[in-house]
Amino acid sequence: MDMREPAEIVSFRKEVRDWVKANYPYEKADPYNYAGHERHGKDSVWFGKLGRKGWLAFRWPVEWGGSGFTPPQQLVYVDELVKAGADVPRGFGITMIGPLLFQFGTDAQKRRFLPAIARNEEIWCQGYSEPNAGSDLASLQTKAELRGDHFLVNGQKIWTSGAGIADWIFCLVRTRSEGKRQQGISFLLIDMKSPGLSIKPIKQIDGGSGFYETHFDEVKVPADQIVGKINEGWTMAKALLGHERAGASHIDLGQLAQRIRTIARQHALDGGTVMDDSEFRMRLAGLEMDADCMQYTRYRLNTAVMQGKAPGHESSIMKVFQSETLQKMFDLGLEAMGPDAMAWYDKRLPPEEYAVVMQMCYGRATSIFSGSNEIQRNIMAKRVLGLPGD
Ligand SMILES: Cc1cc2nc3c(=O)[nH]c(=O)nc-3n(C[C@H](O)[C@H](O)[C@H](O)COP(=O)(O)OP(=O)(O)OC[C@H]3O[C@@H](n4cnc5c(N)ncnc54)[C@H](O)[C@@H]3O)c2cc1C
Repeated sequence: MDMREPAEIVSFRKEVRDWVKANYPYEKADPYNYAGHERHGKDSVWFGKLGRKGWLAFRWPVEWGGSGFTPPQQLVYVDELVKAGADVPRGFGITMIGPLLFQFGTDAQKRRFLPAIARNEEIWCQGYSEPNAGSDLASLQTKAELRGDHFLVNGQKIWTSGAGIADWIFCLVRTRSEGKRQQGISFLLIDMKSPGLSIKPIKQIDGGSGFYETHFDEVKVPADQIVGKINEGWTMAKALLGHERAGASHIDLGQLAQRIRTIARQHALDGGTVMDDSEFRMRLAGLEMDADCMQYTRYRLNTAVMQGKAPGHESSIMKVFQSETLQKMFDLGLEAMGPDAMAWYDKRLPPEEYAVVMQMCYGRATSIFSGSNEIQRNIMAKRVLGLPGD
């Protein structure tokens, strides 16, 4: 690993740092708002500013409204945003459907959809999971029949994050029921305002409703809103999941550990504070070491990218290790708060403690989405360790 940065990267880093400092709407940040997707709708001031600057779609080419950043610049950009406490651009538009359309979309689809995503003017959601199709996605049943110039869609999706603020949904649908399951799936782009499409919020543990059931009842979808060919949607599905992992969350574990330390110092235990407890300190130190290991793995990945090499298996390992370390840290933060943590629901906690409790609730999801950790371990067993399959 080589941690020195070339001069042009140093000056790019400064450019990003200065711009973020001058433009991030810190004054609008609600310390109690941890609602995730819902705050990144079209009315997001920050994403709007990034869109106008051309920095929202930071992995895209300039041609379609992206930043045109090189891979090393992308890493530095994310790094500076995280350090500044600014939200890193995310969402199904810029991280998933956009990159997929570059690869498989028609020219008309690219022209119609990409610029609006890059300017944060249209929001997308993902219609993959169904009540009986999650990890085993190929068993999906939502049906689309080709009727001349349109598809007729019937069925149900579930866990559709951000459906309440989305303008469009990309969906995997079944277009053939006989033969190999993977060979009867197609990939459709569907307007959320289509007659017959309805959504129902799912209430979450943290009180929010970030995701929804999405129902399709005789929904008409123009035939030119298919990506790729009919019955070849599985190729799109796999390509898109690769983009999903590339756009995985950016949480600074060092900052989180620091926050837990502050909380532990503020809570009494046996005549002192929680931080005076040696077992607590040992557990926190262990997790900080794990966070450091991850940081150095990230440096190794960054070095590979800076040298123009493709990242290796580190990214799958990172997904599992990061989500599990995160969950352990949140659990420790909650322990430090003791019974006080139970006062989260009506915002009686100080903002930094509320943040840990809310993020703990959300943190449970990190080992489920983007391919559950069990599925990731299966992948590592086969591809990294070369163990035999089923
Ligand atoms: C916060 C959040 C947001 C989400 N957003 C979206 C979204 O926007 N759009 C969307 O389409 N989906 C979304 N999902 C759904 C997500 O993709 C699925 O939850 C995930 O794929 C797992 O599917 P499942 O919930 O049906 O669990 P299942 O597949 O039923 O799995 C249940 C358990 O069995 C384990 N398991 C399953 N198969 C195997 C195996 N072969 N080997 C070992 N263990 C196995 C799993 O790891 C898990 O622990 C979201 C999920 C979460 C938590």
